Parts: sequence; C-alpha cells; structure tokens
Amino acid sequence: MTTKRLAGRVVVVTGAARGQGAAEAAALTREGAHVIATDVTEGPGIRPLDVTNETQWAQLASDLRESYGPIHGLVNNAGITWRARLDEVRAEDFARVHAVNVTGPLLGIQHLTPLMPAGASIVNVGSSAALTAHYPVAYTSSKWALRGLSKTAALELGPRGIRVNTIHPGFIETEMTASAAPAFREANLRETPLGRTGTVDEITPLVTFLLSDESSFITGAEIPVDGGYTAHGAAKSISDALRPGTPAAHTAAPARLSEASDSP
Ligand code: NAD
Repeated sequence: MTTKRLAGRVVVVTGAARGQGAAEAAALTREGAHVIATDVTEGPGIRPLDVTNETQWAQLASDLRESYGPIHGLVNNAGITWRARLDEVRAEDFARVHAVNVTGPLLGIQHLTPLMPAGASIVNVGSSAALTAHYPVAYTSSKWALRGLSKTAALELGPRGIRVNTIHPGFIETEMTASAAPAFREANLRETPLGRTGTVDEITPLVTFLLSDESSFITGAEIPVDGGYTAHGAAKSISDALRPGTPAAHTAAPARLSEASDSP
C-alpha cells in the first residue's frame, strides 16, 4: 500500500469551485489532504471567500486556528482575466484584476502563514502571461506582479521553513479560456511546440508535488506547464517557417550561407 503524500495536511485552495481550482482540490484530497475549498462562486463543499476581502481572510484564519491549528498549504489559484488592450483598459478594471490576482494572494499569505509550521508550502498560480508580453495588459501585469510577490515571500518565509513556488499554466481548457475568441486559441496552438492545449489534470500533479515533501528543497521557483509555449522565446515561427519540407526551406540555399544569414 502506498502512503498518501499529503496525509493529515490541511490545505486551503482559492477559486476552487471550478476549473483548475476544483481539480486541485480533488487531487489534493485524493492524496490525503484535508482541503478547505474556497471561492466567491457557490458550490458543494465550497466555503465562501472573496480573496480581495481582508475581513474574510481574517475570519478564515481564525476559524482554521480553532478547528485545525496548523495549516500546511495554500494554493493561491483564484484569478480573473480582462481582455482590454493597452489603449482601452480603464483604471478601475486594471485595479480590479490586480486586486484578485495579486492582492488576493498577498492577503492569503499574510493571514495564513501565522498558522503555518516549518515544512508548509504555498503555490501561487501565475500564467504564461507572466513570462511574456501577452496583450491583455491588466492580466499580464498582475501576473508579473504575482511573480514579484512570490519571490519576496520565498525570501521572507524561507527562514521559517515555509516554501513559496509559482506555476505558470499555458492555455488550459477551463471556463476562463472557453470565453476567449477562436483566434486566441488558434494563435496559442501555433506558438505551442506540443501543438495542443492542456487540461486541468496536467496542472494538478505539479501542485501536489510542490505541496508535498518531495519538493522540500524547492522554493522561489517558477515552473511553466504550457506545452513549451514560453520556452522558445518567439523562435517557433522561424523554426516552423524553415522546417524541411516547407516552401521557405526549399528556397534556402546553400545551407551554410542560410545558417549564417538566419542567425541574429
Ligand atoms: P476559472 O475562471 O475557470 O476559475 C477561476 C475561479 O476563481 C472561479 O471559480 C472564480 O469564481 C474564482 N474567483 C474569481 N474571483 C475570485 C475572488 N475574488 N475570490 C475568490 N475566488 C474568485 O479559471 P481557471 O482557468 O481555472 O484559472 C485558475 C487560475 O489559473 C487563475 O489564476 C488563472 O489566472 C490561471 N491561469 C489560467 C489559464 C488557463 O488557460 N485557463 C492559464 C494561465 C493561468
């Protein structure tokens, strides 16, 4: 019989009513964790928590202290997008996205780390947008800010033995991406070496690993789960255009000269 990797651990997951959060809550439960699944959206087994509301975080911390004592994990998964571009985004929408995607994780860390013993682990859910110039500026800048928060938190909490890591999902099939334009999906696929979108079940193993003792010496790390989307630094279209068998590759001769001229 294999031992469950999170047996006896208490883990809070935000945004757990659907999508990646729901899958994470289910996967962590399967690994033996006692999961406190929270969300602004109602659902079975969901505790109401708006991550932007500090009073609600304080109440959650107080309730957890009473019911469990130590808290071993936090997954800052709740997030919203807003697809306005640079020239059209309004300051209030920019602030709203940052409130959920950055201030929410900050409040979670501030209110729950007092309950965390050495060995506890925090996973922040970033995005491939946090590694690129993705066009929805409010979302992209909020996820870049979350990277900074994660790095600072890893540094501050390291001496207490609390780890903080960030995962960066690429295009994952959830309600968030279902609302995107078809052109967004197609462009993503063109830029993804694995040539497909991801599923929530391809996110959960990494979250489980980062919450478990198997990752006990990993902190401050950022791990993309994106089919290679952020790995090629815009080189994919060049590689694809010159791939043997394409018309452009046929006209590129001789090889040695073309190599030289293709190199920036
Ligand atoms: P989703 O929209 O399906 O789920 C997000 C959940 O967060 C919802 O249940 C929603 O109610 C909850 N939420 C929103 N505002 C909240 C608030 N103020 N307080 C508490 N909960 C709130 O999206 P998802 O795809 O499952 O996204 C999960 C995380 O992954 C988000 O942080 C998102 O930015 C990130 N992400 C998603 C993708 C993707 O392709 N789906 C890619 C990169 C990053």
